[in-house]
Amino acid sequence: MKEVTSFVHCENHPDRPADGRCLSCGTYLCEACLDIAGQYGLIMCEECLLRLFIKGDNA
Ligand SMILES: [Zn+2]
Ligand SMILES: [Zn+2]
Repeated sequence: MKEVTSFVHCENHPDRPADGRCLSCGTYLCEACLDIAGQYGLIMCEECLLRLFIKGDNA
């Protein structure tokens, strides 16, 4: 399993390597950013998390 593209960095922290991507919008996230959503058992960026909880309906 290798990333074909060059090194990707977190969208919120340009100095940190991305550790995953938001399931909703595909934004690259670092470990710290993933940890925020991880508290809810999700893999999402903070923006999508907020949107999810505000709207409560993402279909
Ligand atoms: Zn997102
Ligand atoms: Zn980050």
